[in-house]
Amino acid sequence: MKTDIEIARSINLQEIKQVAKNANIPEDRIENYGRYIAKLPLDLINEEKVKKSNLILVTAITATKAGIGKTTVSIGLALGLQKIGKNAFVALREPSLGPCFGMKGGAAGGGYAQVLPMEKINLHFTGDFHAITSAHNMISALLDNYLYQNQSSGFGLKENLWRRVLDVNDRSLRNIVVGLGAKSNGITQEAGFDITAASEIMAILCLATDEKDLRRRIENILLGYTYDDKPFTVKDLGVAGAITVLLRDAIYPNLVQTTEGSPALVHGGPFANIAHGCNSIVATKMAMSFADYTITEAGFGADLGAEKFYDIKCRKSGLQPKLTVIVATAQGLKMHGGVALDKIKEPNLEGLYHGFANLDKHIRNLRSFGQTVVVAFNRFATDSDEEVDAIKKHCEELGVGFAINNAFTDGGEGAVELAKLVVDTIDKKPSEPLKFAYKEYDTIEEKVEKIATHIYGAKSVQYTNKARKMIKLINSMELSHYPVCIAKTQYSFSADPSAYGAADGFEFEISDFVINNGAEMIIAIAGSMMRMPGLPKSPQALRIDVVNGEIEGLS
Ligand code: ADP
Ligand code: MG
Repeated sequence: MKTDIEIARSINLQEIKQVAKNANIPEDRIENYGRYIAKLPLDLINEEKVKKSNLILVTAITATKAGIGKTTVSIGLALGLQKIGKNAFVALREPSLGPCFGMKGGAAGGGYAQVLPMEKINLHFTGDFHAITSAHNMISALLDNYLYQNQSSGFGLKENLWRRVLDVNDRSLRNIVVGLGAKSNGITQEAGFDITAASEIMAILCLATDEKDLRRRIENILLGYTYDDKPFTVKDLGVAGAITVLLRDAIYPNLVQTTEGSPALVHGGPFANIAHGCNSIVATKMAMSFADYTITEAGFGADLGAEKFYDIKCRKSGLQPKLTVIVATAQGLKMHGGVALDKIKEPNLEGLYHGFANLDKHIRNLRSFGQTVVVAFNRFATDSDEEVDAIKKHCEELGVGFAINNAFTDGGEGAVELAKLVVDTIDKKPSEPLKFAYKEYDTIEEKVEKIATHIYGAKSVQYTNKARKMIKLINSMELSHYPVCIAKTQYSFSADPSAYGAADGFEFEISDFVINNGAEMIIAIAGSMMRMPGLPKSPQALRIDVVNGEIEGLS
């Protein structure tokens, strides 16, 4: 079979205005970014239509290093729905250059279920990530300048909470010192970088409901505390207008097309391990404004992305998914069943059975939110029929719908079975209204403990002294009503990336909290989780090149 990029290149793209027209989006309202990409103005969102569209969340079992195929299945499901005559739209996150050039490769789907033009989407796209990076670091520069210019009048911050961001995996930038050398080089202080996907500006862009809300949230960003313990915000710095200007175009969702020419929105890109893991609310609502079925993906396993999708994105926006699709692969289940990584491509029914524990725990969790769940089995060429039958039988025993997704090899045709199951399940047994994992007015400790014990399976939660100090601060600032976004490894239910399967009964430690006052959430950092990833020994960048004028190696 051809590689993802070869398939992407073999497809004759439609002009984006044609894609818009096919989706009933007024073509005179789109703003072209070249021939195949456009931004859509927010006033095209129609709240009445949003209420009527069927929202479907795609999530997965616990991640493997290569991904389980959520994006591929999300796009495949949209194609399958189109094939059976339904009006479907997929809304996805924008890829980050960090994983693209690092461990995972691109994030525009795979095989015959991709969003296009994949090279542009995976690289600089419409510049949203760069705008977010610029807006974030512009605040850093303006804040440091403010401290420098006002030090003679005695102004200073007891604590500067604002870190910098870049869209690269660069471990050397996690902790740095700025302002070294002459006095004119600024105030010497410790600083550090997170990846752009973890920027509060990214979270704000994804949670803002419109331009006005974007501005309000930027004003509220907490930068630090003055010596008399007063919070110091972007509003105090006086630059909320300037920062909003930098994000003026970035807030508009990006329209692209699938491998079968249907519309797709790709907008916003927080990771689900270190951030809240969902594409923007405005893009999801935009898709819902034009489609009867809207498919959206939340990052990594259901313990991370799906929990945050319901408890943060849906709680804030009022969105109610009609169905949750959980993607499982035989290889992933075998890995969770204790089969060595270099053996997961070989048939192993025993290992597969053991791995069901991971799938079952995710399904129980998803049901605890009131969701109707179906399993999409993402079929790989190496999967044996016996393995597929075993998973199917297991799902029947659990009473959850099951369908094989072959969209990777066959495009929409390969997802017809899944599409029919989805339509039928939504007709007969749609999800109940969401039951969140915690209440708005639970304390911060109660929120963390409910997620850690009920969703992850922890025995108890411990807090470092630093984390306890932060809880006091959050309470004194009266911010404990914000949702909690736990930063945790994607490779396990626990904070230990090597604990596969359905880790249970473990101690769970919160080492720190970060207040995202603009995004209106509290980040709880589990264990030694870093918000700036590193690169592996053999990064994907070693395989990326331009050969005969064509980009190679973006998978
Ligand atoms: P996720 O969204 O869960 O991270 P992706 O959809 O991005 O996963 O898929 C991860 C990688 O696996 C991609 O490179 C994709 O091309 C590949 N992939 C997905 N599904 C299949 C499949 N059925 N067969 C072979 N490769 C696949
Ligand atoms: Mg994905």
